[in-house]
Amino acid sequence: MSALTIQENVPLSPLTTFKLGGPARHFCAVSSTTELLDALALASQNNWPFFVLAGGSNLIISDDGFDGLVVKLELGTWDLELDKRTLTAGASCSMKEIVDASIEAGLAGLEWAGGLPGSFGGAIYGNAGCYGGEIKDSVLAVKSLTHTGEEKTRDNKDCDFGYRDSIFKHVPEVIVFATLQLQPGNRTELRQIADDHIGHRASRHPLEHPNVGSIFKNIRVEDMPSEHLATFRDSIKDDPFPVVPTAKIIATAALQGRRVGNVQLSEKHSNFIVNLGGGTTADLLKLVEQIKSEIDQRYGIKLEVEPQLVGFKH
Ligand SMILES: Cc1cc2nc3c(=O)[nH]c(=O)nc-3n(C[C@H](O)[C@H](O)[C@H](O)COP(=O)(O)OP(=O)(O)OC[C@H]3O[C@@H](n4cnc5c(N)ncnc54)[C@H](O)[C@@H]3O)c2cc1C
Repeated sequence: MSALTIQENVPLSPLTTFKLGGPARHFCAVSSTTELLDALALASQNNWPFFVLAGGSNLIISDDGFDGLVVKLELGTWDLELDKRTLTAGASCSMKEIVDASIEAGLAGLEWAGGLPGSFGGAIYGNAGCYGGEIKDSVLAVKSLTHTGEEKTRDNKDCDFGYRDSIFKHVPEVIVFATLQLQPGNRTELRQIADDHIGHRASRHPLEHPNVGSIFKNIRVEDMPSEHLATFRDSIKDDPFPVVPTAKIIATAALQGRRVGNVQLSEKHSNFIVNLGGGTTADLLKLVEQIKSEIDQRYGIKLEVEPQLVGFKH
């Protein structure tokens, strides 16, 4: 057994990009699979609910926090096999690290992710995507541990990737590392593409305030009520399939700037909610409900929250 340090009542908001939410009842950081196995065993012995936190860029944590064990993953090494054009990385490597490493090696496949916050494991968990790319396009194999400590290896097909979805959202497992298949590319061109995305994000996203990225998923064209499709026809984009951007729907309803307490629907990007400082998750959820209700009443569209909700009793 490794010497895990378990802390009590650890504030989680500093570990998230939204800077919202309450504490973890129990908390530890793990930097090896042995420590992860010990943490899983401890949670099981004590009947503690278990939650794995990575980059914290896709989380809405309850103001009451999480009444269980939160494990902060620190599995952050990576390795490139240039002859096979593969990159194998620990789940906690930041996307920035692996995007930069692959480009530096002249390997294409991750340049779409320039500026994508969060970890490699978090990206696989939610099949993160943007600018026409998704992590699923490069995944060769994913290794995980079940909450009972069993090791599993899945190929791409067995990961059941979908729109912001993978099998890992539906099974009690922790991704420990994964291998990507990349292609030969031109280092200068790849760097330029990634930097263009970083610049585009900086100019369009309200990065001056804590936020969680897109608050709602985009709307599949086939889910749009037909009587409103014409209004949004010019905004349809193919990313990763034909969608109406939710930002456009909310902007058309002129809801930007709507505020509850210290959380506000951004004036800069209408699918971002920002924490103006001292906001609460309760205020955030009130604002989310207001937006959902108004968009439903106006267009009959059911908006779906994109980030993961943590610590709520359903
Ligand atoms: C400014 C901004 C812009 C963004 N833009 C985009 C975008 O363009 N496209 C996009 O898809 N997302 C975007 N996001 C959301 C976010 O960056 C991604 O969802 C990211 O992949 C989350 O990774 P994370 O490490 O931060 O995960 P966390 O937020 O820590 O966790 C998210 C979920 O993943 C689970 N998880 C994390 N790691 C593991 C693991 N190793 N094993 C099992 N479960 C795990 C957690 O338990 C949790 O349920 C954006 C966020 C921000 C703040």
